[in-house]
Amino acid sequence: MKIKIQDIEVNCEIFHRKVKYARLEIKNGTLNIIMPHGIKDYVGLINKHEKWIYQRISHINRLKIESESRKLDYNRDDDSFRKMVLDYANKKSHQMGLKVNKVSLRKMKTRWGSCSSLGNISINTRLKYLPESLIKYVVHHEVCHLKIRKHDKHYWGLVSMEYPDYKKYENELSVYWFLVKDLD
Ligand SMILES: [Zn+2]
Repeated sequence: MKIKIQDIEVNCEIFHRKVKYARLEIKNGTLNIIMPHGIKDYVGLINKHEKWIYQRISHINRLKIESESRKLDYNRDDDSFRKMVLDYANKKSHQMGLKVNKVSLRKMKTRWGSCSSLGNISINTRLKYLPESLIKYVVHHEVCHLKIRKHDKHYWGLVSMEYPDYKKYENELSVYWFLVKDLD
């Protein structure tokens, strides 16, 4: 179903689940309306959150348009990608006096990387198609999580010691996501 919010069209799906309250989520550019069984009226919910929906969807649309001017790099082979990630993770963690337990590369469906409380860093294999500067940024982002788990202001303070313009990198990663999300 499509709904119109001001000047944009929004793809919309309705789910009935065993939940107490209705809620909205946006996944892959689609607005999901999750409602308790028996509840049918979603118009009120949409009206109430119209501004939030509009901002989120138009942000996604902007990123999508921006992604059309980016290109993936298919020349980097698995081995050099792995080496780049491992070398950089070791170098960075050493420089910052942090201990990384294990670095692994794997297919991830929702993010570029992750860091567990045990110090295991996982890096999305699709990152290999991105420019080296972004690969290094993601590794740096995860290495910083060895010290601070949450994305709070202390965390971003730590990231910005090396990347004062980290917001640009984060934005760029969101733009590239549109190019890799449907690769297998
Ligand atoms: Zn993070």
